[in-house]
Amino acid sequence: MATKTSRKTLPKDLFFKKIDALGEALTFDDVRLKSGYSVVMPDDVELSSKFTKNVPLKTPIASAAMDTVTEHAMAIAMAKLGGIGVLHKNMDIESQGREVAKVKFSLNGLIEKPIFVLETDTVAEILRRRDEKGYTFHTFPVVNASGKLVGIISQNDFDFCSDHSLEARVIMTANAITAKAGTSLRDAYVIMHKAKKKSLPLVNAKGELAGLYAYNDVSRIVTKSQHRYNVDAKGQLRVAAAVGVNDFERAQILIANNVDALVIDTAHGDTEVVIKTLKEMKKRFNVDVAVGNVSEPDSALRLAKAGADGIKVGQGPGSICTTRIIAGIGSPQVSAVYKCARAADAYGVPVCADGGLKHSGDIPIAIGAGAWSVMMGGMLAGVKEAPGEVIFADGRQWKSYRGMGSIGAMETNKGSRERYGQIATGKKELIAEGVEGMKPYKGELEAVLFQYIGGLKRGMGYVGAANIAQLRDKADFLKITAAGRAESHPHDIMITKEPPNYSAE
Ligand code: IMP
Repeated sequence: MATKTSRKTLPKDLFFKKIDALGEALTFDDVRLKSGYSVVMPDDVELSSKFTKNVPLKTPIASAAMDTVTEHAMAIAMAKLGGIGVLHKNMDIESQGREVAKVKFSLNGLIEKPIFVLETDTVAEILRRRDEKGYTFHTFPVVNASGKLVGIISQNDFDFCSDHSLEARVIMTANAITAKAGTSLRDAYVIMHKAKKKSLPLVNAKGELAGLYAYNDVSRIVTKSQHRYNVDAKGQLRVAAAVGVNDFERAQILIANNVDALVIDTAHGDTEVVIKTLKEMKKRFNVDVAVGNVSEPDSALRLAKAGADGIKVGQGPGSICTTRIIAGIGSPQVSAVYKCARAADAYGVPVCADGGLKHSGDIPIAIGAGAWSVMMGGMLAGVKEAPGEVIFADGRQWKSYRGMGSIGAMETNKGSRERYGQIATGKKELIAEGVEGMKPYKGELEAVLFQYIGGLKRGMGYVGAANIAQLRDKADFLKITAAGRAESHPHDIMITKEPPNYSAE
């Protein structure tokens, strides 16, 4: 049950109270953060945050659940950089389940169900199976007919075997070093390091095979996870995935593939059916559930009280979005984030500011307003890891980017139509709430995110915030005019060399 706590008064409260009293709402280009006394060096700030109550982030950035933004390649790259990808649902349930599995198994922390061979399998049989299935690994635990581990076969054993009719039990290494089921990644690392072994099978009390650690992956995770990889307790990359209303079968498959969080992904999260779906998901499954999208504090409050583990804020700010124009709906994003986060804070539910970010400086603004993370579509759609090929047009390289409420996306799959409440609508009657287009190709995510994170760190340095919680607490805002905005951008110069983090376009 969601419990309410009181929230202390923050410097920005007065600013937003005054804006509210005027009946105004502000977005990124309307405000800037005030700079304040600082003892914080940008390179020393701590960026850990949370996507939902129980899903932490090392970088407070999520990639959008859009079919031109997040499939497994983006989700893997995002998690490796400390953030999280939300896999879109414009695909059938099995495909989305496979996408989750690809992320979870991209690093083999603990292989829970290792591929094994029987002691009576011949070398020829094992090698044939290895080729047929395309296994990229060469070490197999060997078990007897009752499932007990009896040895291990590695590449060396295959290399030095000249008679392929021999059975596994003849060429295997018997008395392999093993560890108990439940051994942690870190303990496994220590055991393997000490014994100079590249594989560590786990066995249960009956001596049956219960898992396998592979040294290369374990050592990569143990050393990298100390700083950047966003991994779960088993050392697997974290990933979230979108589901729709009453989408329980999909949720079940995603959970079976170990998804870290579900995101009930709708254009209007404050509806009876979404809240019912949320409650039912929380009743049926033991997994974090984020819900969206909303833009009013009462809506955030209803979702928090209904048991949301995370709330996604943003109705109409998206760069591909036409909701505000077509339906006349939505609140400018910075005010929406502030008000919703304030409401959600009382229930300890983290808000993700979804959409409308154009520059790295919008990240500290969104977090300063109260978000624990930001979600990006357009700012990530041009990277190599986003789905789709590079397009050549007008002498430049591009990648396509489209709204999930665009005609193209809604025609492709019902997942998109459902986000916009048009599941049963015929193709000719679709009402679009998004557009389709292209973004300049930007190369690999790592370099792009480096610049975004760099901007966030600098913003935190100016505010004097050593971590994300302090940025949320210390941030205060100024409203700027059109003249202030023009002054903020480079002016009175013809730019001849654009830096990697700013484009005049
Ligand atoms: P962007 O980062 O400004 O490009 O916004 C991305 C966000 O826009 C997504 O995370 C969604 O919340 C939202 N969105 C995606 N597709 C559509 C659409 O077709 N119409 C309205 N909003 C959309």
